[in-house]
Amino acid sequence: MTRKVRVRFAPSPTGPLHIGGVRTALYNYLFARQNGGDMILRIEDTDQTRFVPGAEAYIIEALDWLGIKFDEGVHIGGNYGPYRQSDRKPMYRQYAEQLLREGWAYYAFDSAEALDAKRKEYEAQKKTFQYDCNTRAEMENSLSLSAEEVQRRLDSGAPYVVRFKFPADTEITVHDLIRGDVTMNSNLLDDKVLFKSDGMPTYHLANIVDDHTMEVSHVIRGEEWLPSAPLHVMLYKAFGWEDTMPQFAHLPLLLKPEGNGKLSKRDGDRLGFPVFPLDWHDPKTGELSSGYREKGYLPEAVVNMLALLGWNPGTEQEILSMDDLIKQFNVAHISKSGAKFNVEKAKWFNHEYLQMRSDEEIAAMFEPQLKEHGIEAKHDYVVKVCGMMKERINFPSELWEQTSYFFEAPTEYDPAAIKKRWKPGMTTHMAKVIEILNTVPFEYDAIHKALLDEYIVGNQLNMGQVMNSLRLAVVGKTVGPDMLTLVMTIGKEETIRRVQRAIDTIGEVAE
Ligand code: GLU
Repeated sequence: MTRKVRVRFAPSPTGPLHIGGVRTALYNYLFARQNGGDMILRIEDTDQTRFVPGAEAYIIEALDWLGIKFDEGVHIGGNYGPYRQSDRKPMYRQYAEQLLREGWAYYAFDSAEALDAKRKEYEAQKKTFQYDCNTRAEMENSLSLSAEEVQRRLDSGAPYVVRFKFPADTEITVHDLIRGDVTMNSNLLDDKVLFKSDGMPTYHLANIVDDHTMEVSHVIRGEEWLPSAPLHVMLYKAFGWEDTMPQFAHLPLLLKPEGNGKLSKRDGDRLGFPVFPLDWHDPKTGELSSGYREKGYLPEAVVNMLALLGWNPGTEQEILSMDDLIKQFNVAHISKSGAKFNVEKAKWFNHEYLQMRSDEEIAAMFEPQLKEHGIEAKHDYVVKVCGMMKERINFPSELWEQTSYFFEAPTEYDPAAIKKRWKPGMTTHMAKVIEILNTVPFEYDAIHKALLDEYIVGNQLNMGQVMNSLRLAVVGKTVGPDMLTLVMTIGKEETIRRVQRAIDTIGEVAE
C-alpha cells in the first residue's frame, strides 16, 4: 500500500518568516495538493531563548495571505495535535529514555565552563573541538564515568543533557530526492544534544519524534538542514522507524541578486526590495522590515515568482497560477544549485498579475490613495482611468503619479517642455483648439478630423509641436495616453479650462 502523502511546514517562531521559508512552505503545499495529501503547520519552539512574540501569528497571517492553506496545524487543530512543540513537551522524555536504554544515547554532565575550557585547549593546539566518538571519553558522561557516579549525579539533580551516540566510523547515507545519495562518515559528526534535564527536547529529537508520530511522509526543507540529515536518518534507525522514515528533499538556497551567498535581510535593505512577506515590526528594537504585501505586491505574483526560484516547469511558461503550479510541480525539476533572487523579475510578475485584475479591483486599490490626496471622483470614472492606465504600473502605489492629471488640473508646466514645444504662435493654435472643442461635436473622430486633419495638417503646422503643447496644457508635462482619448476622458469643459489656463499662464513667446 502506498503511503498517504503528509508534509509539514515546521518554522521556528524566532522572527518574521524569511521569503526563503515562504518558498519552502509553498513547495510543501504544492506537493501536498498535487498528491491529494495533507499539509501540516507545526511550530518548532523548543529553543525558548530564541522565541519572539508575534512571530507565530505573523507566519500564519503571511501564509494565509499567499493562499498557502493547511489541513492541520497549530491554528486549526487536527488529529495529530498538539501542533506546537512546547505543548508536546511531556511526550518527548520517553523517547530520550528509549535511546538511553538501548545504548543510542548517553548522559553528559559537562558544564558550559568545562566545554569552553576544552574548546580553548583544542584551539591552543590549532584544532577544533567536537563532542564526538573520538573525544567523548575525555568528557564527563555516562560512557566515561562509572554507573554509580552517573546514578549519584542523576539522584542529586545535577543538570545534564542527553547526547546522541554516533557509532564510530560508519557511513551514513541520506537519500535525497533532489541531490541523490549524500553520504557522510560518522567520525565527522558531533554527538548532538537531544534532550535537556529541564525536560525540553532539542530541535533534532522533537523534529524526528513529531515527524514520526504525525506520520509525515516527505520532509521538504531548506538546504541548511542537510548537514543535520545524517543524524535524523540515524535517529530513525535508532528508534526502529526506518520503514516509515520520510523521504527527504533539501531545497537549494535563495541567493543574493549578485549570486554570492544567501539572501539576507540586509540585502533587502540595501537593494530596496522586501525579503519578508508582510511588514514586520520588531517587538524588541521597534525596527520595521518591509513586506511584499505592504509594498503592493499581489499574493499570486509572489507565489509565481517564488515557485520559479529553484524550480521550473520544463517549458518556457512563466505565468503560472497556483492551480497551474499544483498540476505541474515536480520534485525532479527542483534545481540543485542556488536560485538568484531577481528584483526586476519580481516587479515584472507583479505587473503581469496586476493586468489580470479587473479595472474594478484596481480602482478599489486606488480609491484610498485618491482620498489621501483629497480627491473626490466618481467611482465609474476611477474605474475607467484605471483600465486605461494600469498597463503602465508595477505597483498600485504608482497610480497617483501616473494618473493625477485625470483628477486635478496641472498648476505648473514643465519648463523644458515649454522650451521645446511652445513656439511662437502657440497661443493662437491653442485658442483654435478651444474653438474646435466649442463648435464640433464632442466625439473622438470629429475632433480628430477638425483639429489634426483640417487644422494642423491642412495648415502644414508641426503636428508634434501643437499636440505636445496641448498635452502640456492638459497634463503639465509631455506624458500620458493618446491625447484625444485623454481629452475625451477628462471632458470638454475641463479641457477647455486647462487650455485657457495654459494660454494665460505661459502666454505668447518671442521668436
Ligand atoms: N524548525 C526548523 C526550521 O526552522 C525546521 C526544519 C525542518 O523542516 O526539519 O526551519
